[in-house]
Amino acid sequence: MDLALSEEQEAVRKLAEDFVAREVTPHVVAWDRAENVDRSIVKKLGGLGFLGLTVPEEYGGSGGDHLSYCLVTEELGRGDSSVRGIVSVSLGLVAKTIASWGSEEQKRQWLPRLTSGEAIGCFGLTEPGTGSDAGNLVTRAVRDGGDYVVNGTKMFITNGTWADVVLLFARTNDSPGHRGVSAFLVPADTPGLTRRTVHGKLGLRGQATAELVLEDVRIPASCLLGPEGKGFSIAMSALAKGRMSVAAGCVGIAQAAQDAAVRYAGEREQFGKAIARHQLVQELLSDIAVDVDAARLLTWRVADLIDRGQDFATAASKAKLYASEAAVRCANNALQVFGGYGYIDEYPVGKLLRDARVMTLYEGTSQIQKLIIGRALTGVSAF
Ligand code: FAD
Repeated sequence: MDLALSEEQEAVRKLAEDFVAREVTPHVVAWDRAENVDRSIVKKLGGLGFLGLTVPEEYGGSGGDHLSYCLVTEELGRGDSSVRGIVSVSLGLVAKTIASWGSEEQKRQWLPRLTSGEAIGCFGLTEPGTGSDAGNLVTRAVRDGGDYVVNGTKMFITNGTWADVVLLFARTNDSPGHRGVSAFLVPADTPGLTRRTVHGKLGLRGQATAELVLEDVRIPASCLLGPEGKGFSIAMSALAKGRMSVAAGCVGIAQAAQDAAVRYAGEREQFGKAIARHQLVQELLSDIAVDVDAARLLTWRVADLIDRGQDFATAASKAKLYASEAAVRCANNALQVFGGYGYIDEYPVGKLLRDARVMTLYEGTSQIQKLIIGRALTGVSAF
């Protein structure tokens, strides 16, 4: 496998690095403290093409490869995971799913707006009572003439308060488990849909996370995405690719932890010399460096498999599992290098640790990734 980046890939990576330095890094601490990323960032992300990277050009995307998408996601995650999440969800989970499953009319309606940043999407799967066991969701869409009437509640929805369109999963018949779940594209201004900001998060504090409440929300049948009853497969195929994006964001966190820890270790002196000269500090730094490389290689492998058209779902679970656990370890090791200064938010590593922590929870917890990998190894489902 040739791991050298092409000129185009290096150019798009550099574009993202410069964007982060200019538009993200100067505001990170303020956004985190205020629990609010400046929404104008969405148009800027769209303007540079970051919200349409892997979407076909005819729908406003750039039709790029998945390694380029990983590189951009990594750079955004290195800068701020809240900003990275906007792209991972609106492009990775919503626009890509519309591109794969949408009718021509749905693609024309939503993709140019989503890729330009004029509109933003959210992915409504989790409910208060069903997280890991998403196939047992209880939000209901009942057919009524030419419409569906939707009732239910969605929890922890990234981009939820900002979104213009909700990719919503709801039960359309009473079959148990995931059979009978369908996907819908619901305009967020549809009467009966209300949203409440989820406050007090440990990390991703700048991100617009919401609870969505749907009370007699009436949508035309043309909002159905893909065939009725196919919703759970649609959600799972979206999440398989989404896991690569989360993994790339985790590589970004781990790389940021390494950069900050190496810099600080060279500057801070204790016992008459830079702490980088103490062997146990070098152990912390080398543990971080090995995790960064391993997480990146697992993640790039997923991109390579996707771009070659090969099966990638188990590789994506391995990458997401490893990279998310690695991001937590790297940020924690970096905090140790910073000593007491790592514990206050004037320095970057505490936020990296808080932001990393959720990565082992969403888009399938670490336990769920292990069950997916175990099922692929044994042929036995142990969920
Ligand atoms: P539970 O499923 O209740 O799990 C609790 C614990 O039990 C975990 O440790 C889990 O691993 C373990 N467990 C559960 N089942 C098993 C099993 N079979 N074997 C072993 N262990 C098991 N959801 C969306 O739909 N869209 C979003 O945009 C979105 N964004 C999010 C953003 C944030 C900040 C957060 C915190 C969550 C977000 N989520 C989103 C929800 C997220 O995907 C869920 O929180 C996650 O799937 C876990 O579900 P849960 O929280 O209900 O935990």
